[in-house]
Amino acid sequence: MSSEEETNQLTDEVDTTEEKVVSEYQVDSEMPVEVIEPRCYWCSKAKPEIKELLESKYQKRNQEEIEFFLSCTPEHENRTEKFLRFADKFYLIYIAFMFVVPVILLAIAFIIPQHIFSFGFSIFISLGLGLAILPLLGNQLVKNIGLKRSNLLGRILGVILIIIGVILILTFGLAYFE
Ligand SMILES: [Zn+2]
Repeated sequence: MSSEEETNQLTDEVDTTEEKVVSEYQVDSEMPVEVIEPRCYWCSKAKPEIKELLESKYQKRNQEEIEFFLSCTPEHENRTEKFLRFADKFYLIYIAFMFVVPVILLAIAFIIPQHIFSFGFSIFISLGLGLAILPLLGNQLVKNIGLKRSNLLGRILGVILIIIGVILILTFGLAYFE
């Protein structure tokens, strides 16, 4: 093998490896990639900052499903568990205010057209109450910002929705009662 041939062969090998790397990268970039970082479920602090995360189990009420969560301190473990228990207890009330009551209000609003605004705007109050009682905004958000901040955000959103509902009813809705 001449030295030129050798160089060519080497270049070829390098080329194929590069192509392989590129194609793998392309395949990867097309797939949804979720980087799972171990974080405290309550405050969302992650590992370099926290040396060791506690792993805990939570058994859902009336269900066989077990949830696993990580905590940075026993205090945050305790708070997470308390909230999960609270969420279990109030989940049906949450569903009622977020889905059942709004559908009923919407139906009434269309049945009694002269009160369409007052019943329609009451939906804001129902959604607001649901969120203020049980501020569930979704698992992805909790994973990103932690349960503590997600709960605060949910309750603030709930109160804002209630205020908007009351203002709308007082300004537009009541006019139709007269
Ligand atoms: Zn924490």
